[in-house]
Amino acid sequence: MRRLGRRIELRGVVQGVGCRPWIYRLASEEGLAGRVRNDSTGITIEAFGSEDAIDVFIRRLETSMPPAADLRELRSYPISPECVDSFSIVQSRETTERRVSIPPDLATCSSCLSEIFDPEDRRYRYPFTNCTDCGPRFTIVRDVPYDRPATTMAAFRMCSACQREYERVEDRRFHAQPNACPVCGPQLVLMTPGGNVLDRGDPIMAVALALRAGDVVALRGLGGFHLVCDATAREAVQRLRVRKRRDEKPFAVMVKDLVDAREVAVLTREEQRLLESVEHPIVLTRRREGCALAPDVAPDNPLVGLLLPYTPLHHLLMHDVARPVVMTSGNMSEEPLAYRNGETLERLGGIADLFLMHDREVETRCDDSVARIIAGRPVVLRRARGYVPRAIAVPAGFHAPVLACGGLLKNTFCIGTGDAAYLGPHIGDLDNLETYRSFEESIARMERFLRVTPKVIAYDLHPEYLSTTYALARPEPVKIGVQHHHAHIASAMAEHGLIGPVIGVAYDGTGYGTDGTSWGGEVMVARDDTFERVATLRAIPLAGADAAIRHPWRIALALLEDAFDGRAPLDDLQVFSAIPPRDLLVVRQMLAAHVRSPLAHGAGRYFDGIGSLVLARPESRYEGQVALAWNVVADPTEERRYGYEIDRRQSPWTVDLRPMVREVVHHLLAGVGSAIISARFHNTLVAASAHLVRAAAEVHSALPVVLTGGCFQNPRLAEGLADELASEFTVHLHSRVPPGDGGLALGQAVVAGAIARRAMA
Ligand code: ZN
Ligand code: ZN
Ligand code: FE
Repeated sequence: MRRLGRRIELRGVVQGVGCRPWIYRLASEEGLAGRVRNDSTGITIEAFGSEDAIDVFIRRLETSMPPAADLRELRSYPISPECVDSFSIVQSRETTERRVSIPPDLATCSSCLSEIFDPEDRRYRYPFTNCTDCGPRFTIVRDVPYDRPATTMAAFRMCSACQREYERVEDRRFHAQPNACPVCGPQLVLMTPGGNVLDRGDPIMAVALALRAGDVVALRGLGGFHLVCDATAREAVQRLRVRKRRDEKPFAVMVKDLVDAREVAVLTREEQRLLESVEHPIVLTRRREGCALAPDVAPDNPLVGLLLPYTPLHHLLMHDVARPVVMTSGNMSEEPLAYRNGETLERLGGIADLFLMHDREVETRCDDSVARIIAGRPVVLRRARGYVPRAIAVPAGFHAPVLACGGLLKNTFCIGTGDAAYLGPHIGDLDNLETYRSFEESIARMERFLRVTPKVIAYDLHPEYLSTTYALARPEPVKIGVQHHHAHIASAMAEHGLIGPVIGVAYDGTGYGTDGTSWGGEVMVARDDTFERVATLRAIPLAGADAAIRHPWRIALALLEDAFDGRAPLDDLQVFSAIPPRDLLVVRQMLAAHVRSPLAHGAGRYFDGIGSLVLARPESRYEGQVALAWNVVADPTEERRYGYEIDRRQSPWTVDLRPMVREVVHHLLAGVGSAIISARFHNTLVAASAHLVRAAAEVHSALPVVLTGGCFQNPRLAEGLADELASEFTVHLHSRVPPGDGGLALGQAVVAGAIARRAMA
């Protein structure tokens, strides 16, 4: 029989997810000789054997990868056969090619889970148990290729039992880089806020008891610290709110398992699947009425963010505490997540009563991801743990490496290189020094992981974003400003492998327009390098600019002044009754005189303004609070809508929503309920948007449609518009990349990459 040789290259997330042992087993089963190794581009196999065996081997590689792997590409070339008689796994080799395949952190697998609850097992109750199918990855990696010496586990020397597992190909822990056990691995330490070590026996049990007694505990997890308290105890939750200075923003809740999840929330099958997915994100779900959760977990909010345990430490703790706990990021509001032991005592000392520390260093801080089911499918709203640093394939590719610096709020950055884009972890709002530093560090680290020196820098047009300032200060000569909504649309295009043209509907709160005004109700026809602004929403003056966003009654007032020509029945509207008459007067004067009242086209501002008016909620305590309340109140069965007009006399066309505003006021005065008004408001926006898309298609043909921008986190709007257009267009929503500004950097990278490519061609 003729012996052939074949080199097979695997690209994608293939390191640290159990690929090499699995490849070893496949090769052995097919009777192949040769070798497999990790390199900084992925995995390379050299296989020798009969043609049939090699073909079967490749087919099995393509179709049956381990669950956490994400194979993006398999290439194979003939090589000359060698005389070797066995198959082996060889030491990693570094190459200079610029691609990475560091896996994301993986939630505890079922085999590890049974070990930690088995009193006979040597890993019984060991909180750092992991194997090739699960455990820390991205958060502990210091460098590529992904091997133990290049992780924070380098500090621990495996005991002989662990070493044996690590070396035996048949073992589940064969080459599991963070492999550890109670004898040789990381350990827990219980501490007081003052830094004194406490000996209270089993530290996890001690924490469980403290939580049940109402304490707030800082818990070192996978990507940093969490603050934890009993989610069923009102006082504990209130205490945490006060200490963390977080007044109304909802807390995430960890539950032991799906059974407990169903007790506190009404879950669809898709939501259950998402909770249990490899990524284990926080899933926004509908809170079950009358459930055991303290109302302060998510005040005035029918939704609750749930997550399941994703490390052995969480599993053990949830078992011991036996009730849902608040699991919120370990920081003071607005600051980045604390992740080092030392800084944490300092930063969280005033918040937590007890600290559960450990000595496995977190190299890269990583928040929990947040996702929601929209139109029956998962949409990532905050992209971090579990998803980062998975590559996003960009079919047109990058001629030169691009660094995109993202936006201001919910910042992420993105590096585009080769045929993929790497979105960095959620950094947060870039408005304080701590967060800004974390942004800089995070970029430097990702450049190192990818072995990339960016040649092109992409940034948002807003001159005051810190990410823009950062971009402009970078040494690279090529800098490309990308319009905010074009970036949103390009981000959605990239997710679906489109290079355009598309009809993009980009609705959000705000984004700098090329005319210097704030955009955000945009319908564009876009390609990856250009866009045409087809239509926008009628602008609203924001009295006091950002102040109007925190005090949405000002937006309500602006809408009324516009719709009623200054003769709105303000005295009859409840939202204004709480506003001091002098403030009301000042704002009316500002609006009338166009003083400090910049124009804003953002669809999100209509949610703020009308929501504030109808729900009589003059203030917004955190971004999107009123808009969210306005969304969730909508009656799902109401099908009617209000009026609108589209003015096509000039470009861009404008959508005039004043007829809707007037009808809303009449309804409100007639005592129509907010559920009906909200539903009709949503239906109006859906109808007007569909109208715009059809009109754009008349001019530009029936292109694919993408829905993007923060407003499409709203299922009623997203599902409504997608349904409305489904029979005439191919409609794409986001899935793995956030529709909001957390996904912006991907679009910036794609647009700048396309512009640079064309300039060089
Ligand atoms: Zn495992
Ligand atoms: Zn060990
Ligand atoms: Fe935006």
